[in-house]
Amino acid sequence: MADQDFYEVLGVKRNASADEIKKTYRRLARKYHPDVNPGNKAAEEKFKKVSEAYETLSNPKKREAYDRFGTVDPRVAEAAWAQARPGTAGFDFSNFDFSNLDNLGETPGARGGVNFRDIFSQIFNTGREEEPLRPAHRGRDFEQSVTLGFWEAIRGVELRVQVPQFETCSTCGGTGRASGRSSIACPQCRGTGTLPHLSGRSRVSVTCPQCHGSGKLKAACPSCQGTGHTQKYKSMKIRIPPGAQSGSRVRVGGKGEPGEQGAPAGDLFILIHVSPHPFFKREGNDIHCKIPVTVAEAALGGRIEVPTLDGRAALKIPAATSSGQKFRLRGKGAPSTKDANRGDQVIEVVIVPPEASDEQTKELLRELSRLHPENPRAHLFDLK
Ligand SMILES: [Zn+2]
Ligand SMILES: [Zn+2]
Repeated sequence: MADQDFYEVLGVKRNASADEIKKTYRRLARKYHPDVNPGNKAAEEKFKKVSEAYETLSNPKKREAYDRFGTVDPRVAEAAWAQARPGTAGFDFSNFDFSNLDNLGETPGARGGVNFRDIFSQIFNTGREEEPLRPAHRGRDFEQSVTLGFWEAIRGVELRVQVPQFETCSTCGGTGRASGRSSIACPQCRGTGTLPHLSGRSRVSVTCPQCHGSGKLKAACPSCQGTGHTQKYKSMKIRIPPGAQSGSRVRVGGKGEPGEQGAPAGDLFILIHVSPHPFFKREGNDIHCKIPVTVAEAALGGRIEVPTLDGRAALKIPAATSSGQKFRLRGKGAPSTKDANRGDQVIEVVIVPPEASDEQTKELLRELSRLHPENPRAHLFDLK
């Protein structure tokens, strides 16, 4: 392979602008790309040459070196410079990035030194040599409902839930693409590869982000609709923390649908319902309940035992307690899922009358009425 002039390879003038060089390269690269010309050796060779020429001419420093010395090899360039202008230092090599040149062959046109795929992906802003199917996006979230018993929600529980499981599609091997070379016109740009864009008053074209300018999208695999995976369900253990409330959601990160082309997976959300308890009623992190007391307990006061989430607890009732009066047991409520605190237990007193079926009880109550003839409703008639 004789060293061919990079400008001739691209078919541009030596004073071509950077933009002109880029546009020309894109046109040629699309025309000669191996994917468009399967098995065509001549096209592949042409594609390599075009890419190599572009690699040099698209880099201002390399282009300058090439223009002056006909090579991008720094050693050759330096020697040529020294020969041409002994004792002068007109070309500043200090700013020349030699690191990239290490990857190049000894002379322009040498084979094997340049990673054409890399160049191609830089130009087309795509990480793969094939046309992208669609923009990579994060996997979808999944939501699943579970019903917990009251105590399970209070104490926390380990559950087995069916979570979606994804396996690589066996039809397409995970590429999401249909077999063969079938492709469809990109719907976003209608196959043109560019989108009109208004910049101030001028109308310019921008590269279509969906097809990255190729105008084509590979047809999706019919088995997986282009996702590259198939969905199954798998039983998985999920830990529900103590204090979970009805209507709350527990997030299980990364257990949703996998992201496409390396994008992050979605999350799995467990939507929690809690069965009611016959005695304890949860409001936020407080537990409300109604406690029956006798007439004597309410009138005389005293210590009574009440059920709490932690078992029995003592509650002191003052003398002359009325029905509906509320007492608070601090820290006896439900655990918070946000911090280490607990709510309170709020106890409402309900006075339960004695069953006055025997004559002695009846007489005692009549005696009580004679001692306290006041009407507890009297003040209601004075209310304005
Ligand atoms: Zn598939
Ligand atoms: Zn497009």
